[in-house]
Amino acid sequence: MKAGHQVVVIGGGIAGLAAAYVLQKDGFDTEILEASHRVGGRVLTAREPFARGLYGELGAMRLPANHEIVNEYLRELGLDDQLEPFEQANQLIYLTGLKRTITYNAFEDLLRQKDPSVLNLFPGLHDHEKGKTLDELWTEAMAPAVGMNATQIRQNYDRHTLQSYLEEVAGWSSACIQLYEYCSAHVVLENAFEESFADAYLSSEQQGTAARMRQLKGGLDRLAWAFLQQKDVDLAARIRFGARVRHVVYDRSAVETPIRITFESVAGHSVTKQADYIVFTVPCPAMTTIRVSPPFRAGKTSAINQVRYVEVTKILAQFRTRWWEKLLNQKYNAGSEGGLVTDLPIRYLMFPHSASSQFAPPQARGVVMASYTFEREAARLGVLSEADKLRLVRENLKEIFEEDLIDDTIEVSVSHNWSNDVYAGGAAFAYFSPHQHTRLYNDLLSPDWDGRACFAGEHASAYHGWIEGALRSGLRAAFQVSEHFLI
Ligand SMILES: Cc1cc2nc3c(=O)[nH]c(=O)nc-3n(C[C@H](O)[C@H](O)[C@H](O)COP(=O)(O)OP(=O)(O)OC[C@H]3O[C@@H](n4cnc5c(N)ncnc54)[C@H](O)[C@@H]3O)c2cc1C
Repeated sequence: MKAGHQVVVIGGGIAGLAAAYVLQKDGFDTEILEASHRVGGRVLTAREPFARGLYGELGAMRLPANHEIVNEYLRELGLDDQLEPFEQANQLIYLTGLKRTITYNAFEDLLRQKDPSVLNLFPGLHDHEKGKTLDELWTEAMAPAVGMNATQIRQNYDRHTLQSYLEEVAGWSSACIQLYEYCSAHVVLENAFEESFADAYLSSEQQGTAARMRQLKGGLDRLAWAFLQQKDVDLAARIRFGARVRHVVYDRSAVETPIRITFESVAGHSVTKQADYIVFTVPCPAMTTIRVSPPFRAGKTSAINQVRYVEVTKILAQFRTRWWEKLLNQKYNAGSEGGLVTDLPIRYLMFPHSASSQFAPPQARGVVMASYTFEREAARLGVLSEADKLRLVRENLKEIFEEDLIDDTIEVSVSHNWSNDVYAGGAAFAYFSPHQHTRLYNDLLSPDWDGRACFAGEHASAYHGWIEGALRSGLRAAFQVSEHFLI
């Protein structure tokens, strides 16, 4: 019955792949139109310009153990034995005012001991903020919200950004907010409070460790390609690359295939297709480049236009030797992998797990995520040329490690400023600002055009900025199509 009913999925990211996979298995005649030359979208594993066998992640990189649907799909796609550890913990910190690199543990000790060398860098700390680690401060600050369900959190704190929550509910001084911002890896103060609360494993060292992050051997884009390799579907044959959708029309009066989709091929011609259903999985900012007739209902259009996205720039750098493994171990007694936080422009660096499958002997080289920045810091780095980014990484690392081995070993870099990514719509991922959950969430998720148009993508989920959200939204959109078909 479902065979012969056409569903077109716009976008071959994780949401689109998940939706198409389920719909095809369910019997629908499903096709994916993908504007770029690859699947994965914001899962972007870089293998160039690195030495053969090496890679790094310019988009998604880690998977928390409690993201159930990701784990389910890793099993379903035959990748569950391909996970390896991802070291989430911060090992080192360098603050310009401190003028030396210390372990994160030592930094926490300095905070506990109210050491003036750190406290003087943040004048204005309240007495009750002194003598506590960042984790202790965070845990205390979150206490009023802990134990509440999502509805209660929204009722109580919907109007708050993380910053205003910390100021008004937790009573933090601006010095304490600066301490937290500069000495943590993932602080986006303008986020709606509930986003940061939900992502506590990025906000607290302890919760980050408890999340048991893993990575996929060989690169996370293997997850996307695995959808095309499944034998029970033929998605590889049913995806068109280089197909940028420009115009979608819904003809309410048509008895069959009421959706008309026009896409532009990279070869420069325009193609129009008919379908019974359409699933949009394109990030909201990129949706605004697709003309839809008739327009979606007002709430849907506002939600697409208004939902807040964040900027991210990542820089990956290749070194001739993995000098950090020895240095972290011998100089700092801090293992051989993990994060480094700094107030220098690179802000956050991640030394990969030494047991990573890509480092199997005789591989001596390594690729480091040399910088991960958000919002205005991402914008500042994003405008630099690749050469200037590599220069910045080299200069920052030389200041942090005071070692000649940086100059001796640094080779090449590649970066991605998500603000310049046309198909991502010039942004990295959705993070609601205050009130947006209440005002936009239902409109982002619900179908339009009498149930003929369904919507997916990490933005249309409760897991913004995670693959889990993209998968869940793709499954939901597929169910919405099936449900409508059965009516
Ligand atoms: C820097 C960064 C770090 C991240 N870190 C993590 C992490 O560690 N762990 C984690 O789980 N998640 C992480 N994420 C989030 C995760 O990558 C996303 O949630 C997920 O990949 C989004 O999938 P999607 O299908 O919703 O969107 P996308 O991946 O953006 O897919 C949309 C697709 O639509 C295509 N498209 C756009 N316009 C058109 C058009 N007009 N016509 C046809 N096709 C079009 C695009 O090319 C793209 O392939 C990160 C994301 C970023 C950017």
